[in-house]
Amino acid sequence: MKIIPLTIPTPFYIGDVNVFLIKEEPLALIDVGPKTVEAGDALREKLRGHGVQISDVKRILLTHAHADHCGLAKQIRDEARNAEIFVHGWETGHLFGRSATEKHKNLRLRSGVPETVCGEIEAIYKDAARLTDMLGEDEFSELQDAMEIEFSSGVLKVLHTPGHTPGSCSFLREADRTLMAGDTVLKRLTPNPTLAPDPIDTNKRFKSLAEYLVSLAKIKSYAPTLIYGGHGEPVDDYEEIFHRYVRAIDERQRSVVKLVSEKGITAFETAQKLFPHAVGKDVHRFLAISEAIAHLDYAESENKIAVELKDGVEFYRKL
Ligand SMILES: [Zn+2]
Ligand SMILES: [Zn+2]
Repeated sequence: MKIIPLTIPTPFYIGDVNVFLIKEEPLALIDVGPKTVEAGDALREKLRGHGVQISDVKRILLTHAHADHCGLAKQIRDEARNAEIFVHGWETGHLFGRSATEKHKNLRLRSGVPETVCGEIEAIYKDAARLTDMLGEDEFSELQDAMEIEFSSGVLKVLHTPGHTPGSCSFLREADRTLMAGDTVLKRLTPNPTLAPDPIDTNKRFKSLAEYLVSLAKIKSYAPTLIYGGHGEPVDDYEEIFHRYVRAIDERQRSVVKLVSEKGITAFETAQKLFPHAVGKDVHRFLAISEAIAHLDYAESENKIAVELKDGVEFYRKL
């Protein structure tokens, strides 16, 4: 099975996104890039370089529903006359745009994020939403963990690897243990477990960091020889990256727990202390808040700190 990585530009801080052409019968793309003219042109041109046109695409497999990865999915599907889009069911909150507003806002308010900052974060969301076409309920098929996607010369196995987002999925070519992991494994960064409602009970937060740690171990159990992340170069030393991630997460856990006093601290205050420079009106502020919440939730689940709700805001306290 031929896997061809293509680099597509994005307007986001993270830079280019990796898209993969599975040059097989039926022809497939893993991720597609954001809905910008530049990304569309680049994708067309790079596919042409491999003798492929958009109209040849039969399947679009999405690692997750962030705009830099999925934005062009609907456009390509329509242009390719109903290519089939596959995405995990826990990811569709993003695609339908429903959870991007009210539920997310409630989660932020509960974390002590002031109304004004909520407004700024929502503006960032709206901007990013312009780079994705929403999908209707009947316009995609659901990816399931352990499902095998068949091609003429082999299969891609779906691994549900939640953490970065609830429905993040990775695709494994079992023959040589090559994995396409989206933003779950990135060579130069420790991926952010982003704040999201729990897909099972959307009034709760998704336990993103705990889930992420399980996903990292799950990937390790497959002993991948090569991992293509959603950005940057491929990883051929996953064991090392795994240990680096776990160490970085441990260190951050310690600094987060240290910030929690007897008086109590909100997730927003923790984020400000952890990342004093992430105060601008950009995505870093949202990521800083996500990171703080993920770590506080994890510390609380590990019984390192306690949490209590006061006037609708969660305060974390030293035990
Ligand atoms: Zn992402
Ligand atoms: Zn990404």
